[in-house]
Amino acid sequence: MANAVESGFREKTPRSAELFERASRLFPSGVTHDSRYLTPYPIFVERALGARKWDVDGNEYVDYFGGHGALLLGHSHPEVAEAVAEQVCNGTHFGASHELEVAWAEQVVDMVPAAEKVRFTASGTEASMLGFRLARACTGRNKILRLAEHFHGWHDQVIGDGVALPSGVPAGIADTQVVCPANDIDAVSEALAADRDIAAVVLEPTGATFGKIPATRDFLVQLRAVTEQHGVLLIFDEVIAGFRVSRGGAQAYYGITPDMTFLAKILAGGQPGGAVVGRADILDGMSMRPDDPAWNASERVSHAGTYNANPVSAVAGLTTLKIVATTDANERANRTGATIRDGMDEVVRELGLNWIVYGEFSGFHILPNSDPDVTADDLYSGKGAPAAIKRSTVPAGMTHLLRTGMIANGVDLLGWPGGMVSAVHTEEDVDRTIAAFRATATELAPVAAAS
Ligand code: PMP
Repeated sequence: MANAVESGFREKTPRSAELFERASRLFPSGVTHDSRYLTPYPIFVERALGARKWDVDGNEYVDYFGGHGALLLGHSHPEVAEAVAEQVCNGTHFGASHELEVAWAEQVVDMVPAAEKVRFTASGTEASMLGFRLARACTGRNKILRLAEHFHGWHDQVIGDGVALPSGVPAGIADTQVVCPANDIDAVSEALAADRDIAAVVLEPTGATFGKIPATRDFLVQLRAVTEQHGVLLIFDEVIAGFRVSRGGAQAYYGITPDMTFLAKILAGGQPGGAVVGRADILDGMSMRPDDPAWNASERVSHAGTYNANPVSAVAGLTTLKIVATTDANERANRTGATIRDGMDEVVRELGLNWIVYGEFSGFHILPNSDPDVTADDLYSGKGAPAAIKRSTVPAGMTHLLRTGMIANGVDLLGWPGGMVSAVHTEEDVDRTIAAFRATATELAPVAAAS
């Protein structure tokens, strides 16, 4: 059965197979981002518009990769595309300050409750690197407390589970991080009480991987209280959630204001870009003092970056954020997300599978082959969620089969497995998606039962 899924995929994608051979001679594992890896090989995409994309074999897909979450307005939204095209002809890098960066930052400050000041970076990873440096400078402490499974970019300070250091990461880095289980306020409280060298607590406010391990509002409220109690900064990593959960991100939705926030993805409207935003006194740790060389030499937080606030990213971001601020883009994406989750859930019930389809806002997650004793409610039970998810962990092979099966049926999923829904996915897109899910789940049911 597994072979039938794979051969359906191979039959439709011979040009992708050829390109993968070339790519494999150049790139490790043939890919340029870990999460684009797929067995037997990934599809190579040629063109994308709205909620659809087309591969080099001419196959059309309903897309839920969504530019890794950057494309709330879909691919090449006409207003964003026009603004970018115009900017490309007017200069892509001025090596100077410019009005667009000011307008972009003003728009961010208008939308994000915790944003008093802004510093643009070239990516979410860079925002997290800079944010931790600012947190250390502002508190005079060295460590960052993060939650297991929560993602904050690929740099040394945030990868690994806190137990084993991934290859290539210097051993000393382990001393700069404390990793607590997700959703466990007692563990965080105890860690903060025991270690006075913790500068900040950072988390994805929706829960790890946009709610794959959901966080509860109660947990966020408690985190805000404990961090204040210990004089530790609270950082929301809203690289995915920002401008998606609501216009003002997760912090506006939950009504909880962190001290600092990391932004990227939708922030830059599909172009590279990120930002650290937050309390003015924290960001002012970066300010230059021309008459104070001692401050400039060792106390101020330095930051460079050739592509920070480049005009193309600025105009794409500004145009996108204005559309998000003035339309129902968030509500539409969230509604469509719910319709997809309901539709997939119905298929799961119809077929009598031990699968759970869940998620919030404009995301969906699929747990094929879940522990039969785990219910969707268990996933939202706060402290119990990580254990419930762990018990239902999807074998990598199953994720690849699900993704290739969905691709063969005309839908491109994220490797969570799941997807990010845009504001331009239509009813027809949803119908195609549910039909593809029905066909794929039917094919995979015997594999799932045997694994
Ligand atoms: N934080 C979160 C929550 C993310 O999802 C990501 C990217 N997936 C990052 C940080 C890193 O952002 P980037 O890929 O732009 O470096």
